[in-house]
Amino acid sequence: MMNIFGFRLSASSAIDMDKVDRTLFDKLCAEEPDARRCMSCGSCSATCPAGEFTGMSVRKVLHNLQRGKEREALKMVSSCMLCGKCNMVCPRGINTRHLILSVCRIYKTEESR
Ligand code: SF4
Ligand code: SF4
Repeated sequence: MMNIFGFRLSASSAIDMDKVDRTLFDKLCAEEPDARRCMSCGSCSATCPAGEFTGMSVRKVLHNLQRGKEREALKMVSSCMLCGKCNMVCPRGINTRHLILSVCRIYKTEESR
């Protein structure tokens, strides 16, 4: 990391979407078409009791999957308590809890192949 006049330049976080592997996201959407309806409002993140301590957020899970960052997404999902609060506040009516369970199941199926 370089220091210039007291400012530190961060590495670029740009993602080349043409090179991203979205296998898990595509499989999730095939089973849970509602995943595409998320408008990233953040209501699920704001109500998540696990979010404050672990960074869990359905919104971020979907973002990570869309960007091919499966490990980050699965790490988040592992801290979900399935309390269902996010389910109740989603303005798009997405069954977020079911979506989380599907992410885990699809990943386990993929891993066992
Ligand atoms: S179900 Fe999981 S993601 Fe949703 S609010 Fe509860 S702990 Fe957070
Ligand atoms: S509350 Fe629903 S629409 Fe809003 S970010 Fe979460 S999943 Fe997406």
